[in-house]
Amino acid sequence: MKDLKLVMAKNHDIITPKTEIKIGNITVGRDFLVIAGPCSVESEEQIMKAATAVKAAGANMLRGGTYKPRTSPYSFQGLGRIGLQYLSVAGLKTGLPVITEVTDTRDVYLIGEYADVLQIGTRNMQNYSLLVEVGKLKKPVLLKRGMNATIEEWLSSAEYIMNEGNPNVILCERGIRTFETLTRNTLDLSAVAAVKGLSHLPVVVDPSHATGRADLIRPMSLSAVMAGCDGLEIEVHPSPEEALSDKEQQLTPEQFHILMEAVKKTLIFKEELKEKG
Ligand code: PEP
Ligand code: MN
Repeated sequence: MKDLKLVMAKNHDIITPKTEIKIGNITVGRDFLVIAGPCSVESEEQIMKAATAVKAAGANMLRGGTYKPRTSPYSFQGLGRIGLQYLSVAGLKTGLPVITEVTDTRDVYLIGEYADVLQIGTRNMQNYSLLVEVGKLKKPVLLKRGMNATIEEWLSSAEYIMNEGNPNVILCERGIRTFETLTRNTLDLSAVAAVKGLSHLPVVVDPSHATGRADLIRPMSLSAVMAGCDGLEIEVHPSPEEALSDKEQQLTPEQFHILMEAVKKTLIFKEELKEKG
């Protein structure tokens, strides 16, 4: 990883301080980031309900996919531009910055007009022209780990973005593909601890796509906090059973509220451990 000079915390004898990214009222890398919201923006009402609920529970960023990278061409593909408008209005009304995925170089500028953070999904981690475009835009980018990518490949993709002059990169571990089929992916928490030691960039964990199961979000979220992550990205839907995508893994607002209480307690517990040495 010697040539990853922008991403690594230590380069020869030069130590780069931890990256902090100011987005609205929060500073990612310092404040614990909780991104929450539905897998997809489905209607104005749905995203507004989700935004109000996640804000009340303590989330500090709103998510919602509008350009969806679906495995099947027959699945819901997202609302596109009108979805971006709904998401942005819900963010403004609740005071939450918003994040949404960009899948195509042609949409980078448009999405940058609406979103505070651009998400690069697992399927596009090695889409180098997309990485270069979001690098040029210079807005904060959340870079998900490719489902088949090594840690070094993941960091190399972050280097692509930074090499275009955009230092505002947040890494996101979202599970990798293994032989296991009981969960959607396998959450690689060792990667979180390892990357925190290697890089100065903030690392967020997405237990929703990592497990694909609502019942596993709580244990994985709390474990991710203990592994040292800088934040979580969690799918929350006003009524998950009616969701147009990823219904098995989305939490209800009530479940999310309970989870947030536990996350807050775990963060305090972790701080106490640190103080005791
Ligand atoms: C998402 O967060 O909406 C998503 C599609 O995630 P991933 O790229 O990790 O599958
Ligand atoms: Mn999803």
